[in-house]
Amino acid sequence: MGKITVPQGDEFPRSADMVVIGGGIIGCATAFYASRAGFDTVVLERRDGLGTLTTAASEECFRAQFDEPENIRMMQESIAVFENFADVIGIPGYDINIHQKGYLFLTAREEGVELLRKRVEHQHRNGLLDVEFLDGDEVRKRFPHVGHNVLAATFREKDGWLSAHELTHGFAKGSTAFFALRTGATGIRLDAHGVAAVVTTRGEIATRCAVIAAGPFSGVVASWVGLQLPLTNLRRQKVVLADVPLVPSNAPMHIDADEGPYWRPEVGGAALGWALPEEPSEPMEHVPTDWTFPAVVLEGVARLVPFWNQVMEKLTREKIFLSAGQYTCTPDNKPIIGPCPDIPGLYFNLGYAGHGIMASAGGARLLVDLILKPSTNVENPFRYERFSEACTRISAERMII
Ligand SMILES: Cc1cc2nc3c(=O)[nH]c(=O)nc-3n(C[C@H](O)[C@H](O)[C@H](O)COP(=O)(O)OP(=O)(O)OC[C@H]3O[C@@H](n4cnc5c(N)ncnc54)[C@H](O)[C@@H]3O)c2cc1C
Repeated sequence: MGKITVPQGDEFPRSADMVVIGGGIIGCATAFYASRAGFDTVVLERRDGLGTLTTAASEECFRAQFDEPENIRMMQESIAVFENFADVIGIPGYDINIHQKGYLFLTAREEGVELLRKRVEHQHRNGLLDVEFLDGDEVRKRFPHVGHNVLAATFREKDGWLSAHELTHGFAKGSTAFFALRTGATGIRLDAHGVAAVVTTRGEIATRCAVIAAGPFSGVVASWVGLQLPLTNLRRQKVVLADVPLVPSNAPMHIDADEGPYWRPEVGGAALGWALPEEPSEPMEHVPTDWTFPAVVLEGVARLVPFWNQVMEKLTREKIFLSAGQYTCTPDNKPIIGPCPDIPGLYFNLGYAGHGIMASAGGARLLVDLILKPSTNVENPFRYERFSEACTRISAERMII
């Protein structure tokens, strides 16, 4: 069982097969698959708890409804893990509060109907056979709260949501790794062979394998060894409404495929969001919220689901909970998973944008396979080399703390 602790005295490891920088969902999933492969693994997390930065801000949803075949495969693999999580981590009865109530992408535009129909055909061709195309009447037959302006939708019942906190801790507990809380990485020491150690606020850990899984801070960590990763951090906000009886508790996740706002039920209320345009921001420990956001999102979701107008009329301030985190995005919106070509022993598992919960299992399993079988990186669609032209070594220094 993984040990999650604020290290005391001699307890802090001085060497490891692998050191993972970052104890969010990605670092914890990485530690789980690394443990299974026999790596003696240390995870460094400078905050008080695991999964308390971006992972805690998430809407906690998962879907296999993607366009790119590599994303479909990664999400299918992850969802299969979520469906059997207690067995996968070997802790009987472990509950991640999974709800497979589906994802419903809706359109009210004529051109959207053809787009959704083609998307489903494409998904079927790529092995995602359980996505349905629904015309407007079929949508309202199944989901009577949907407005008469909706012309079509796609639906996959096995999509849904879960507890990101339990998922993160389940990966940690199911591993054999050492999770050092309140322990910051401050540098990566290199020698003639590549990675030699990770420098921390509690001293050095000698290792030949370091994984950057630092969420929005991944670019900062990479800069210690002179790398400039093609990452952009974008603020994203989440609204949770308590006690909203009009929201059907068995409703799926609804996404307005034309404009973007989304909502799903959440214990007596709802969780809502919208990836609105934002200026790129520096990595942040505390991401500010904007109290115009709930009103904008509610107006947005009411376009296709009219009961939200009634909700807005009665909503009071104390029922609204607003939080925010940052998406860490790459230019093609897909994560970077795999080795750094320039520095032996340095690996990336980062840049998951809005998909780090849902992709966690597949992405972490892939990274560990790539470490074990480096030759397979040429077939890896998430390899760093796709951005090699955007990546420049900006420093020849061998150690930067
Ligand atoms: C509003 C919002 C909604 C979202 N909704 C969804 C969703 O529904 N489904 C989904 O799949 N994804 C969603 N996401 C995206 C998802 O939350 C992220 O992709 C995921 O949490 C990234 O996990 P991570 O482990 O890479 O990053 P984080 O959770 O940020 O973890 C990185 C960790 O590294 C630590 N760290 C950084 N630097 C150091 C250092 N030097 N030393 C030690 N520790 C360090 C940080 O403290 C942090 O805990 C959403 C994100 C937001 C903001």
